[in-house]
Order: sequence, then C-alpha cells, then structure tokens
Amino acid sequence: MTIHIAKYFLTLGKTFSKELGYNNIGNVFDIPKVGKYNIQKTNQMKRRSFIHKSSFFGMALTTMPHSIWPTQEEYTVEELMGKAEIKLHGEGINLRKEAHDAFLEMKKAAYSDGIDLKIVSSFRDFYRQESIWERKYNQYTESDNMDPLDAIDKIIEYSTIPGTSRHHWGTDIDIIDGYRKTTGDVLVPEKFEEEGPFVAFKKWMDENSRKYGFYLVYTNEPKRKGFKYEPWHYSYAPISIPMLAAYRSKNILQLIQKEEFSGKEHFTAGFIRSYIRNNILDINPELL
Ligand SMILES: [Zn+2]
Repeated sequence: MTIHIAKYFLTLGKTFSKELGYNNIGNVFDIPKVGKYNIQKTNQMKRRSFIHKSSFFGMALTTMPHSIWPTQEEYTVEELMGKAEIKLHGEGINLRKEAHDAFLEMKKAAYSDGIDLKIVSSFRDFYRQESIWERKYNQYTESDNMDPLDAIDKIIEYSTIPGTSRHHWGTDIDIIDGYRKTTGDVLVPEKFEEEGPFVAFKKWMDENSRKYGFYLVYTNEPKRKGFKYEPWHYSYAPISIPMLAAYRSKNILQLIQKEEFSGKEHFTAGFIRSYIRNNILDINPELL
C-alpha cells in the first residue's frame, strides 16, 4: 500500500471506527454511553444499529472502496487474541507483510541518518503473554509477598492481560537504536530522555515514523490512563486501526472471563471494564 493510499485509508478508518466505536465501546463496558442499546445485544442487533447509524454517513460510506468496508469481519477472535497461526515476515522482525515492508523502508531511511532501528520485541502469541503474566504474578505475590490485587495493578503498568496485547496482532513493535551501546534494561523511559542513549532515536521517530505508518501507542500525554508511557512501542496504523476496531466489536469482557490464569479469580467485571477503557482504548488517539 502506498503512503498515499495509507493516508486515505487512515482518514476513512478514523471516521469509520469512531462511528462504530460508539456502539461497540458501549457494548463492552460503558452502560451510560450505550443509551437505548442493550448491553447484551446480539450480532444481528449490532449490525442493525450500525446500519441505522451509518445512514447519517451515507455519502461517505457509499464512496468507500469495497476492500475497506468489510474490515471488521476479516479478523477472527483467535487472531485478535494471539491464538491463531499467522504468517509473519522477516527474520528478527516477525510482522505482517505490509507492516514488515513499511518497517524495512523506515529502517533504511533511519540508517542514512545514523540510526539503527532495532526490534526488541514484535509478535508475541497468547501463550507467551500468558507466561509473562504468570512469571510476574508469581514473583510479586510469592517472592515480594504482595497482595494479589496490588500485584495485578503492578503487572498492568507495563504488561497486558493475556489475549489483550497489541503484540498479538503482528503490527506492533518495541524498538531502540541498535548503534547506541547501553547497559541494563533498554525499555525504560529515562533512556529516551535528556542525556539518554536513545534521544536521537526518539527525535528521529517523532519526525519521521508517521511517513511509514508507525505511530507511538502509549504516549506521554499526562491525562492518558492505562499503560505507562512507552517511548519504544510503535504500531503500524494501516493494519492496527482496523484490527482494534474488530477487537472492540467483540465482547472483550466475556473473552477475558473465559480464560484461566493466575489471579484471574480476582478480576471483577468492573475491573475488566476499566482495563478495557484505560489500557486498551486510552491510547494515542491517532490509532483509534
Ligand atoms: Zn510493546
């Protein structure tokens, strides 16, 4: 997809998912926003209300290319939750084809400016996320003797509940500048600030990443809730925007409740709803 088409897609995607989002957010967690719609409505009802709402945007929607229209139907629950085998591209890159190609283009451009875009983490499946969760939960509750609820709050500062990670999608990456030598953990915000080794990387990405479709997800915006600031986590918007739209159209609350992992017994419906609102949806608005 050329940048031109990608931009066109992004503009449409925004209108499209925002409009859809009204029903779908309400469906999942926010009763007041649902208005007259019932929280447990069926797919058929969802479709009907969408069609009803879309009539306000008839002009825009009739001009929408057919390939964009069915986006929400293209991704299965398994795929969205990191449980499906998806085709990944590039050794050490592991992204969907289009995201991979765009990443290589961006990497080439960064090289010529003296920055080596190095992937620390990209695709991660459900089971990998589950093992990260288990490791942290056991460490916090057993070695550190934390109360389970405090342990869960601490985990979700930076790590997701299994099945809810954007890393499941093959569109998101954690990256640093491979040229800069540093010691200890690399994915810490201080390394991207002031005299930190990745300051030049951050500046380059701020100026250029959008040209290649990559956007920061967990921004430094003070009012943002959910996951903490992650100056290393970028998302390939032309695919992740429709994937998030597809994901929020599912009943995420029920999907999480179906899973079994440590600490899950402490999850109330209220907790999951606020997690969806803050950790999944309170992100860079350019990615909604
Ligand atoms: Zn990440």
